[in-house]
Amino acid sequence: MSRDRGPGAARVVLIGAPGSGKGTQGPPLAWKLGVPYLATGDLLRDEVARGTDLGREVAACLDRGELVPDDLMVGAVVARLTELAGRAGDGGYVLDGFPRTVAQAEAADRRLPGGLADQVVFLTLPDDVARDRLTHRGQGRSDDEAATIEHRLRVFHDETEPLLHHYRHRAGGGDGPTLHEIDATHPRDDVLTTLTSAVGSKL
Ligand code: AMP
Repeated sequence: MSRDRGPGAARVVLIGAPGSGKGTQGPPLAWKLGVPYLATGDLLRDEVARGTDLGREVAACLDRGELVPDDLMVGAVVARLTELAGRAGDGGYVLDGFPRTVAQAEAADRRLPGGLADQVVFLTLPDDVARDRLTHRGQGRSDDEAATIEHRLRVFHDETEPLLHHYRHRAGGGDGPTLHEIDATHPRDDVLTTLTSAVGSKL
């Protein structure tokens, strides 16, 4: 795979149902764009594993497939993105798993200079395909158990899917990030090709 960096900074957020492939597509997309990759699920699991204060506060939410409270999540992400922006680089990133609510998107837009994202990618996937993928992915995650999968899908539809309307509305009004809606049912390499060319065309 070649790295084909465009002229502009790329601040890209990946949104999608559990099992839609954010964690599969995010790292190679970030590599192609030459920007860091940050997954909020990984960030939280790492806090839990290290037994930090934040980790202790969020462990039960992760196990139950509940969202971590917005204020905790926004604080953690803004801190991490500000730290990344302070390092050498052009300030771009691929962010996987944030925002998960409209309130998170709005709070992060207020707190980050220039806003949270230049481009938003929504990976779409029917629930039956998501269920099948999560049941068979075998990563040993404590939240990949049948009842928790159902709960995470419900949380996605209730809390996260409204972001699609939020970003459609903003893109339609001409003041928001570019929105890409990508069908994630296709084989992973095909999704990556579509995704990289969609994002690359807007750099
Ligand atoms: P993921 O690895 O993206 O599937 O995230 C795993 C879990 O981390 C989720 O089920 C939530 O409990 C928590 N989480 C990750 N990102 C967020 C977020 N932006 N807001 C709230 N909770 C989150």
